[in-house]
Amino acid sequence: MGNRTSIVSGRTADSASADPASPAALDASKLNITLAKKLKPLQPIETLRFGQTFADHMIIATYDPEIGWSAPEVKPYGPITLDPQCSCFQYGGNVFEGMKAYLGPDGKARLFRPDMNMRRMEKSCARLALPPIDGDVILELIKRLVNIEMRWIPKESGYSLYIRPTVIATRPGLGVTASDHAMLYILASPTGPYFTKPVSLLAVSENVRAWPGGTGGHKVAGNYSPSFLPQRTAAEKGYDQILWLFGDDRRVTEAGAMNFFVVVKRDDDDGVDLITAPLDGTILPGVTRASCLALASDPEFHEEISVRIHPQEMIYTMHDIAKWSSEGKLLEALIVGTAVIVGPCNRIGYEGKDIVIPGAGTGPVGTALRKKILDIQEGRTEWKGWGVVCS
Ligand SMILES: *Cc1c(COP(=O)(O)O)cnc(C)c1O
Repeated sequence: MGNRTSIVSGRTADSASADPASPAALDASKLNITLAKKLKPLQPIETLRFGQTFADHMIIATYDPEIGWSAPEVKPYGPITLDPQCSCFQYGGNVFEGMKAYLGPDGKARLFRPDMNMRRMEKSCARLALPPIDGDVILELIKRLVNIEMRWIPKESGYSLYIRPTVIATRPGLGVTASDHAMLYILASPTGPYFTKPVSLLAVSENVRAWPGGTGGHKVAGNYSPSFLPQRTAAEKGYDQILWLFGDDRRVTEAGAMNFFVVVKRDDDDGVDLITAPLDGTILPGVTRASCLALASDPEFHEEISVRIHPQEMIYTMHDIAKWSSEGKLLEALIVGTAVIVGPCNRIGYEGKDIVIPGAGTGPVGTALRKKILDIQEGRTEWKGWGVVCS
């Protein structure tokens, strides 16, 4: 876990490492568990709405620059008390992750490639100059919480326990500066399919979600609230989500808070291209996105499906989409992310017209990717260590 003393101001690394009072690392073996006296009743799964129901417990730990990390605690889900001068309320120094625990046919809970979420969370904290975190220890804590909350994971396919690890900046004081204090908390929320029908997108270029050199490539809280007003405007025009464009050439980036792919028939008649924007700093490096690309270039997966897929991470524009559509080559448009997994898009509003995706967007590529990923997540298939048992 290394030496964390470098974050203590005014001490050299040497004297700090020799100092018995050097800040403590986050330590999952120190977990204190206080269980709720009375457990909440489980809710019928049909009534679950994303992020509305929470399991009985949460995990919490705090970081102080002198003391280091507190012993993490499992405690009943409930309000937290913070000083209103904490920098999270003023400057939004907050990061989060989203991942799901699924129940397998063997009765064990599984996470999907959680190491990728943890590496991303470490980078998000670094980008906001928060105290460094150790994702491996946070993953241990997540597994402990999942094991405590097993009864909240619905057995039905497509349902899971959504896990939301969060780090917030708790530096006291209004100074516009990095937070040397932090709080980690981990919430668990039972959840079902995110979109139950194909999604319509409105292509937007007057507002941008992310820009070169910005924070769009990190899961930091500040990226999200500026998208709510354009999202509301899109909803008023009858579209479910925004397709975020960037630049004068109207590059296609992401859809809502999800990655976006199009499936385009190839000129050489050798199957289809599965196209998504490259990770240039404006695109959130999604675990689902990476998994779709990895499957699309995997000969083992090719053997399982009927279409030949060529993954392409490339810059493409709204003009390209309109052209592919008019030539009859645009076959599918897909939204991908932990919440939705892989979902279809049925139309894209652009400059007052709709580009209609054939077959309401439910084509063979999206269907095959979704099925494969869900089979891995729900433990029906072993695949390259992607499903990680919470033991
Ligand atoms: C979380 C997120 C995604 C999807 O990432 P996953 O790791 O697949 O869940 C895509 N775009 C944005 C902006 C996100 O916040």
